Amino acid sequence: MARYTASACRICRRENLKMYLKGDRCYTDKCAIERRPYPPGQHGQGRVKFSGYGVQLREKQKVKRMYGLLENQFRGYYHRASAAKGKTGENLLQQLELRLDNVVFRMGFADTRNEARQLVRHGHFQVNGRKVNIPSFSIKPGTTVEVVEKSRKMLRIAEALETVDRRGVPQWIDLDKKSFKGTVKTVPNREDLTMPIQEQLIVELYSK
Ligand code: SF4
Repeated sequence: MARYTASACRICRRENLKMYLKGDRCYTDKCAIERRPYPPGQHGQGRVKFSGYGVQLREKQKVKRMYGLLENQFRGYYHRASAAKGKTGENLLQQLELRLDNVVFRMGFADTRNEARQLVRHGHFQVNGRKVNIPSFSIKPGTTVEVVEKSRKMLRIAEALETVDRRGVPQWIDLDKKSFKGTVKTVPNREDLTMPIQEQLIVELYSK
């Protein structure tokens, strides 16, 4: 399956935003965006002035890469969001947040979304008691996600759970660390998504 393979830190530097794509390293002074706060590449330190289209494009790229998606997948989410009731931009972000890999990351069973995706693919989670290994699986409010019994001793999961308080569990999720289980209480509100995202720029870009 195709996936984005370039360095995660280049993504942060390109978007000039700390996206916490590398887990522990992001909280140390090794963070690349702290050391080199300018875009990567030969012309990274030159003056860059974006057109209106450029600003919209960068916003879309930022969100797409934040959730680790490829263009077709992301566009698919946009089309579903625009077909649903309500605000397209908000629908889009809610759909992305409710992907199983993102929920696993938000619950603290993984340090990054990439790691969460890999753990899901390898069958380490149950959704409402049934094993699910599809990272894009859409979680509904009231759904329980838990680590399967035999995976609860995994160091990666234990370590991630230990450090989850550092980034915090969102209020739309109920986490029971002891039983390796979390419940999605509600659909996240726009205010729950604290990363600086201007979703209306993405809507403007795709609706041209
Ligand atoms: Fe981004 Fe810094 Fe983490 Fe690299 S270490 S992924 S630049 S936040």
